[in-house]
Formats: sequence, C-alpha cells, structure tokens
Amino acid sequence: MPERFVPVINYNTCRVCKRCVNECSYQALDFKDGKVVPAGGCVACGRCISVCPASSMEIRTVPSQFPPHGNWTERIRRGIYAQAGSGGVLLSSCGTDGDHPVIFDDLLLDAAQVTNPSIDPLREPVETVTLLGGRPGKVDVSENGVMRLEGGEKPIVVMDMPLMIGHISLGSVSYNTQKSFFMAAKELNIIAGSGEGGLHPDFYQYADHICTEIASGRFGINPEYLKKAAAVEIKIGQGAKPGHGGHLPGEKVTPLISQTRMIPLGTDALSPYPHHDIYSIEDLAQLISVTKEAVEYNKPVGVKIAAVHNVAAIASGVVRAGADFITIDGFKGGTGSSMRVIRDHAGLPIEVAVAVVDKRLTDEGLRNRVTVCAGGGVRCSADMIKVLALGADVAMVSTAPMVALGCRVCQQCHRGLCSWGIATQREDLMQRLDPEVGAQRVVRLFSAWNEELKEVMGAMGIDSVESLVGNRDRLRYQGPNPKIAEIMGVKHIGEGWG
Ligand code: SF4
Ligand code: SF4
Repeated sequence: MPERFVPVINYNTCRVCKRCVNECSYQALDFKDGKVVPAGGCVACGRCISVCPASSMEIRTVPSQFPPHGNWTERIRRGIYAQAGSGGVLLSSCGTDGDHPVIFDDLLLDAAQVTNPSIDPLREPVETVTLLGGRPGKVDVSENGVMRLEGGEKPIVVMDMPLMIGHISLGSVSYNTQKSFFMAAKELNIIAGSGEGGLHPDFYQYADHICTEIASGRFGINPEYLKKAAAVEIKIGQGAKPGHGGHLPGEKVTPLISQTRMIPLGTDALSPYPHHDIYSIEDLAQLISVTKEAVEYNKPVGVKIAAVHNVAAIASGVVRAGADFITIDGFKGGTGSSMRVIRDHAGLPIEVAVAVVDKRLTDEGLRNRVTVCAGGGVRCSADMIKVLALGADVAMVSTAPMVALGCRVCQQCHRGLCSWGIATQREDLMQRLDPEVGAQRVVRLFSAWNEELKEVMGAMGIDSVESLVGNRDRLRYQGPNPKIAEIMGVKHIGEGWG
C-alpha cells in the first residue's frame, strides 16, 4: 500500500544527532550509511520535527497514488485493501476524520447594540461559576409558613467555569496524562473524568475534582473508588462508538493498569456493549439509586449517553430515573480505540443533540432538575459558547486538552505507541510528558477559553453564564440546510428577535 506520509530530511543542515531516529516510536526512521533515512510507516505524529535541533525534518503528505474517482475514494480503497489483507475490522482512534459538516461553523453569535448595551468584563462582573448536580424543585410553603424544597437539597459541585475534562481512562492514556488532567482540574476548580479504568490511589488527592465512572465492564469499581470523587457518572454510551463498549488492547494492560482496573495482566479489557443489569429506565433508576446510596447521598450521580437518533426521549427517561446530571456525547467525540465503521457512521452531531434534549426537557418541565453536560466535537471557545447557547450547562472537552499536551491527532492511540507519551503505557514514552508542564498547558488553555467566554458574553450584554445556557435566540444559522436550524430551534440569519 502506498505510504501516506514521508519524512524528508534536509541533509545540508542535518547534524546527524539521530534524535529523530531515537524518538520515533513507530520506527519510521532509520540510520543507514551515515545518514537518517525514511523506513516506512510514518504516521505524521510530528515528534521528529519537534526534537530536531536543526529544523532539518519535514513531513510531507504523499500525493494520492490512486487514479482519481469521485465514488471510489482513496479512503474507501485503502480500507478494502487493508481488510482484504487482514480479514479484520478497521480500528482507529480520535474523533471521526470523515468530511462531515460542522454545524458549529454554521452558527453565528449575536452581539448587543444600543437598546441592549454590552458589558465590559474588565469593569463589570461577568459570572462563569457553574453548578454540576441535581436541582431541587419548587419551594412548597406549608400552612404554618414552613418552606420546603421539593425533592430536598441535592449535592452540588461548584466549578469556576462551564468546562470539564471528559472521561479519558488510565489505560487509554498514560499515568502522566491523567495526572496532568487532574492537576489542571484542581487548579482551575473544575472536574475531570476518570474514565472507566478505575482510579489509581495516587490520584485520590484530587478527589474533589474528579468524576468517577461506572461503565459496563465495572473495571476498578469499589466503594472507595466511588467515594474518591466529587461526582459519579454511569456511562451508558460514548459518542465515538454508540452501542459499543470499551476496548483496551491487552498490550496496554501493564501491571499498573491491571492493578487499577482489577483485571489480569495483559488481557484485553473489553467492556460489554450494554450494562447487563440495565434493560429499561426502571433498571437504570435502580442503579442510580444504589450508586447514590453507595456515596451516601452526598455526591451528584449522573448518566452519560451517546447522542443517538432518539436522544431527547432517552434523556427524558434518564432524568425521570433520578440522574442529577446528564452528559450527552456527540458523534464527533474522541476515542482511544474504536471500530472505524462505528466511529465514522453512527450517532448524532452534538449541536443538534443538545438542542433537542434541552427543548424536550424544558417542554416536559424537567430541565431545571438536572445539569446538562455536552461534548463530542467541542474544539475551541467558540464551540463551547455555542454549545452552551444551544442548551448545555457544561461543555465537556477531551481532545483539546490532549492537543494542549502535544497530541497531533494522528489517530494512532489504539496502537499504544504514542510518541508524545500521551496514549501509551510504554514507560520510556510516558516519561516524555512532564505532568507539571502538561497541567500548566491545560490550565492556560482553559483559562484563555474562559476569558473569551466572558468577552463574548459581555459583547452580548449577558452578565452570567446561566443566562447564556439555552439562549438559542442569540444564535443564527447560516448553513446550507435550514431544516437543521428548525430542529435546533435556531433562527436563520436575517431573522430578528421575538
Ligand atoms: S516521529 Fe512521527 S512524524 Fe517523524 S518519522 Fe516517526 S512517525 Fe513520522
Ligand atoms: S494521543 Fe498520541 S497517538 Fe493519540 S492521536 Fe494524539 S499524538 Fe497520536
């Protein structure tokens, strides 16, 4: 099969230090006859470029070697050749790289003028504090004047910004990667997900900033794990692979992962597709209830579902089942390993999913009972702002903080050879990521996004993030398919307020 990427070495400037050869975990570089030469298999991870002291390295995308065809694209043909050779399913990682429309890019934000003046966040407060957890219902006042909150008081997590780091398990990523995320979450006063791989005891110190996860494999779950968290999430589905369970290849199950997940060394960690004790909303209600009991009713318990075609009705059932928060994970969400056919072809874009969930919960009088978290395709502060305006309280992001650590989105996480030390369990590779440095990079990224959020809210004349949530009237659609706008409840450009 023709190579897709080829390293090109400038021999005029190369100092023959061989750092690139040593750092390439894919063995795509060799040293022969006194010079560095390409050895095949380059994945464009960019590590060699970053370590070359003489800037002598360049990675070129090889022009297509296939005769052009609009229907039988190179991607389709490469897939056929690979499967004809292996007889297996095609695995990949990261979010889908297919050429799908990005609805976020078709949405324009509003700004304030004259009659609704804007706010300067440097001079006036613009509030981004966000609450994660269930909300009590209305206030009941008895005949003798005693006030009581319907549903009682609920545990709430207070975050400084409407952002959380999504669930990225230890195993899919390295110890140092998770440590970077947990340290960043603590400094930012937000939440980071543990993923379904249990929680290493070293990370118990970050418990107040961790959301632990109960997935179908029940890896690493015990009462202590559940309590070492600010919140607990029951994972039903993941945006990158709706309907599928987790898949951690045996090569990644090192002694550390085996201990944390409580599984035998070197075995594939395959979580079942469904939870085998959940076949109805009533079953889900039972698991939510026992989880709340296990954490002594002092932590919010939520449910994560993949954005699928019936997402609004499912979300309604989840809230009725007693979830304190619901996480909707969109079609473009990331993964450490997934079948490509599922990753690229199943699910619903988060923009549409969050809008229909927000509307359905509002119509049914349920919206004020829960926190809605939404992710799976949020790439930048503009996407975060738009997903909030579409109806989410919290934007969940995973790939962006990984990119902040150095990830080049090369889609090779499932191979466990990540040259940046992020998605790997190889000790020598893992050491390439300094968690202190990684955490600071994530802190700076999220702080910058939060500043941009304040600036945009100020421009809109909005002084609190709560007033932005679900405020679809401050969005306009300029894309090619007005039906999408209609479903999302967003007006077309040119339509005014009211
Ligand atoms: S380090 Fe990465 S980009 Fe460089 S040759 Fe190896 S695989 Fe290619
Ligand atoms: S984490 Fe590593 S292997 Fe995965 S996409 Fe990023 S650079 Fe590639």
